[in-house]
Amino acid sequence: MLNRIDLRAEGPDGSSDPRRLLPRAQLDVSVAVDRIRPVVEAVRAHGLTAIRDATHRFDGLDLSEFRVPAQAIAAAERTLDDGVRAALVESIARARKVHLDQRRTDTVTEVVPGGTVTERWVPVSRVGLYVPGGLAMYPSTVVMNVVPAQVAGVGALVVASPPQAENGGLPDARVLAACALLGVDEVYAVGGAQAVAMLAYGSDVGGGQRCEPVDMITGPGNIWVTAAKRLLRGVVGIDAEAGPTEIAILADDTADPAHVAADLISQAEHDPLAASVLVTPSVELVEAVERELTRQVAATKHAERVTTALTGEQSGAVLVDDLEAGLRVVDVYAAEHLEIQTRDAREWALRVRNAGAIFVGPYAPVSLGDYCAGSNHVLPTGGCARHSSGLSVQSFLRGIHIVEYDEPALRDVARHVVTLSAVEDLPAHGDAVKARFPGADL
Ligand code: NAD
Repeated sequence: MLNRIDLRAEGPDGSSDPRRLLPRAQLDVSVAVDRIRPVVEAVRAHGLTAIRDATHRFDGLDLSEFRVPAQAIAAAERTLDDGVRAALVESIARARKVHLDQRRTDTVTEVVPGGTVTERWVPVSRVGLYVPGGLAMYPSTVVMNVVPAQVAGVGALVVASPPQAENGGLPDARVLAACALLGVDEVYAVGGAQAVAMLAYGSDVGGGQRCEPVDMITGPGNIWVTAAKRLLRGVVGIDAEAGPTEIAILADDTADPAHVAADLISQAEHDPLAASVLVTPSVELVEAVERELTRQVAATKHAERVTTALTGEQSGAVLVDDLEAGLRVVDVYAAEHLEIQTRDAREWALRVRNAGAIFVGPYAPVSLGDYCAGSNHVLPTGGCARHSSGLSVQSFLRGIHIVEYDEPALRDVARHVVTLSAVEDLPAHGDAVKARFPGADL
């Protein structure tokens, strides 16, 4: 079922670009950007009309109003199944516990007597949180977006999630209930690139209401959502690109093939473009996992989507000489989710440089992290884990330097400022300092 990539002879040794040898989707985000650019442009230019058109085209719904009424949010919470409520409450409590520990405190550095730099951490004022709702519904993503934003102290939180025919054109009822549990009351029934554009540019949303532009957009989504976020980066702040999900599993012969297969399937069921990659030195494990995949896929609910994802070019079993080579491969791949199912799993995990989140040993499957580990599940995909982190309190904070120097402190350093301004042929910079010390030899 999985494509086999045998790196045992050549291995990523730096002689060729190993990224090219590893499985990754050909339909990448940059191709999708060109496809959704007209949608984004239309929303910027025509607002509500373009949102209606795109909703008709991509969600198959004719809607005229997109702001979810407060009564509908409250009703969704009232009618929430008790078991789902308990699970969401647990998920919120665990996420809050971890994210509260991420809070930052301001620092004051005395650079010289009379000269200090204070770093203040200030939350973004208004944030748009995207909650997916195409192939699957994601009340858990409400939790993962809202909790860190609230802990950071973001003033206004806005949720956008695709309209669902089954819920009368509103977002999924469980998504609305999660918003209610977390106290979010500004919610729009808009999905895809049109939602990202609406949040970035602002728009009338029907019924005499308006979505004002946000300062930042966070949250995961399919390739179209991810492409829109890439296109609008700069117009608004964007967290990492959190697109179609990925799991890489670094495993040796101690791994249980049934667990490995189950975890590969669990991420493949998100999206036909999801990537499931096994990296191992054990041919026996690959063969045993293949047998398990055949058995388990036949019994899984979304077998067709899972099969498309597992057999796609973005998925595969990568054979390596040993775990050292496997470690190099997973670092090059930079998976959104990395599981380590080996002897001394924790030791290997601590040596990984590139991953969105790492799940260690046999009892920390990725699906625990999707819902209830306390960690955040909005994580960088497509290799972005080489430079970006998952969503956190820090994502919603900006550090502002406050510079305070008194007269002696500035006088003491003035000649260096003047020298550097001359080196850069920006003499007016130096003059601004000289103006404060008339007659001084600077
Ligand atoms: P989604 O809300 O991301 O996408 C659905 C929307 O896509 C629809 O509302 C529609 O407007 C738009 N759309 C559909 N087809 C289109 C097309 N051909 N052109 C333009 N727009 C189109 O929901 P989804 O599809 O279920 O995808 C959720 C994604 O989120 C999955 O890929 C999943 O793996 C990913 N995810 C990622 C993370 C992460 O942190 N990386 C976390 C959770 C989920």
